[in-house]
Amino acid sequence: MEIARRRFDTLIIGAGGGGLRAALHLSSADAHVAVVSKVFPTRSHTVAAQGGVNAALANVRPDNWHWHMFDTVKGSDYLGDQDAIEYMCRAAPQAVYELEHFGVPFSRLDDGRIYQRQFGGQSMNFGGEQAARTCAAADRTGHAILQSLYQQNIRARTHFFDEYFAIDLIKDHEGYLLGAVVMNIANSELLLIEAKTTLLATGGAGQLFRTNTNALINTGDGMAMALRAGIPLQDMEFFQFHPTGIAGKGMLISEAVRGEGGYLVNADGERFMEHYAPNAKDLASRDVVSRAIATEVREGRGCGEHRDHVLLKVDHLGAETVHQRLPGICDMVRTFLGTDPAESPIPVAPTAHYTMGGIPTNRFGQVIVPLQHGPEEPVPGLYAAGECACVSVHGANRLGGNSLLDILVFGRAAANHIVDYLHENRYHKPCPTDGADPALARLARWEQQGDGETVDHLRTELAQIMEENCGVFRTEEVMQDGLDKVTALSGRMGDVRLTDHSKIFNTARIEALELENLMDVALATVASALQRKESRGAHSRIDYPERDDVQWLRHSLYHRDTRTVDYKPVRTRPITVDSFPPKERVY
Ligand SMILES: Cc1cc2nc3c(=O)[nH]c(=O)nc-3n(C[C@H](O)[C@H](O)[C@H](O)COP(=O)(O)OP(=O)(O)OC[C@H]3O[C@@H](n4cnc5c(N)ncnc54)[C@H](O)[C@@H]3O)c2cc1C
Repeated sequence: MEIARRRFDTLIIGAGGGGLRAALHLSSADAHVAVVSKVFPTRSHTVAAQGGVNAALANVRPDNWHWHMFDTVKGSDYLGDQDAIEYMCRAAPQAVYELEHFGVPFSRLDDGRIYQRQFGGQSMNFGGEQAARTCAAADRTGHAILQSLYQQNIRARTHFFDEYFAIDLIKDHEGYLLGAVVMNIANSELLLIEAKTTLLATGGAGQLFRTNTNALINTGDGMAMALRAGIPLQDMEFFQFHPTGIAGKGMLISEAVRGEGGYLVNADGERFMEHYAPNAKDLASRDVVSRAIATEVREGRGCGEHRDHVLLKVDHLGAETVHQRLPGICDMVRTFLGTDPAESPIPVAPTAHYTMGGIPTNRFGQVIVPLQHGPEEPVPGLYAAGECACVSVHGANRLGGNSLLDILVFGRAAANHIVDYLHENRYHKPCPTDGADPALARLARWEQQGDGETVDHLRTELAQIMEENCGVFRTEEVMQDGLDKVTALSGRMGDVRLTDHSKIFNTARIEALELENLMDVALATVASALQRKESRGAHSRIDYPERDDVQWLRHSLYHRDTRTVDYKPVRTRPITVDSFPPKERVY
């Protein structure tokens, strides 16, 4: 089949903060850049980020990047790679000032400097008093960042393919990445984008779980594309459950609410976090707070008719502070609960939020794979940044405010490396005639309507299984059951029907492709979780409650072809400073 072709220096798949930060840097360096996004760029999930972005600016309390680095390493439960963490924390102030110059309207202190709020897991002086490190544009930080980056890209003449869906990557026989096959969602026309370098910036996979804070589009497409291109996924067992989603619905109530002084209470009105984290209390790191809520509920101290949630109180802060500092949250609570947080507490429960694992990269954004019996090597021409990547700065548990930072810093770092790569690799490599075949074969499968269950039915069942079998607390038995169920479910994809309606829109086919992606990412997640026999960060096993640094201070790598997991060492050595050796993690 003959398909249209376009050529660019760089193809960026994903127009969230990660993709747009990279695109801006490249376009400004006169590279010819294409950004492909399955939704209009400013609808990417980055737009939903509320609380803010971390940088040790020391505007509100004393701070420096060493403390930020310590908190991040500790937050990661020592699984984060310390070279990447040092790089990110040092680059943070610069990343924020750049945003300011791009036009992000940060909230201000009275003296005009950028306001900074307290977030979970932040400390001064290596584990001392609470720090205030999160820069915010009220509680709509992601919205402000994404709009500013988009406008700057328009100015820099980045070429956008809006509402195009990337199907699969193209590789030549030497292993070079040469671009991707994408589809115009509106008319289903295919396009082969040839590129000297390709950057995956496709975001997370929150749709794996029934109750989640993510956009509907967060289906792990880039991760699944990488898997199909023979690249393993790293640390997929670590999925962050945010402590405060609206109970039963999942919408995120930002950590900023607790940062501004809100706190959690159980059915007895007790401020229970005091028992779980005597110092940090409600601002302990997310895994700790999520487990505390799950424990309160499990032990019968949950609120409401089903005793399945706890309450988040902010009324004591006064209506003015609540409405001024948290306007977006107030709107959301009014819309979905019909109440005003300044008057009545918000019912909350842990909800799936952030994919810590992903496509393995180094701190230059290069995708790296372990060679058989050899060291790791970059995949030539392929980069990844943002939530789809695992660089790994978040390790086993991400700190709030560190993801917006991650996408900015590593979006830029990847672009920097790409600029050098383009200098050394000036010409397009020839695309093999069968380069698009895997993508076309995948599409052909969905040309026809099967007569079995619908795509929607299977997606709902998958999310239910993941929620029940791979949630906040895990055991061998429950996860094995989960793996068996997901494996059986993926077997049922064979005769799936696109839709219940007689008329098939192209979006139905896109949903089928997304479901295939979710299925692969789900298998990677449960298989990796089942293998890790310890509790670390967000991976919390009732049958192995302790962290085990002797056996398990290492990254997992899930391989799709063999459905097996193997391991690689954590990079514990920073770039210029001393490393932080593992210690007991208390808040
Ligand atoms: C509700 C919410 C609040 C958050 N708040 C904060 C916060 O306050 N602070 C913080 O640090 N972090 C926060 N996070 C996390 C943070 O926002 C995200 O991790 C980050 O924005 C992800 O950015 P990204 O560029 O990697 O991907 P995204 O912004 O998710 O963008 C992904 C892009 O990939 C495109 N794409 C995906 N698949 C395909 C495909 N097959 N074909 C074409 N295009 C594709 C999409 O169209 C989109 O443009 C929050 C997350 C959520 C869900």
